[in-house]
Amino acid sequence: MAEWICPNCEYVYDEDKGDPREGWPAGTPFEDIDPDWTCPDCGVREQVDFLPIEQFVGNDQDGNIISAETRAAWAREKDLQEGKQQ
Ligand SMILES: [Zn+2]
Repeated sequence: MAEWICPNCEYVYDEDKGDPREGWPAGTPFEDIDPDWTCPDCGVREQVDFLPIEQFVGNDQDGNIISAETRAAWAREKDLQEGKQQ
């Protein structure tokens, strides 16, 4: 089953384990979690803000999420810049 990560504090929700403290028994799919549920570690991010763990890369210095999409966009920009220099 999938793992989901809080982009703010990197708390991981593992569907296999659930989070019994939060009322989600092992095996609870992430989609079944209340959209208003907030991250138990930071209390900042809600269920809808979590990312599939494979899409999460990290946060930049300003605390913005670096997703796989962001990284792909950077790669495209870099290609463009390098193209200009040639
Ligand atoms: Zn969090």
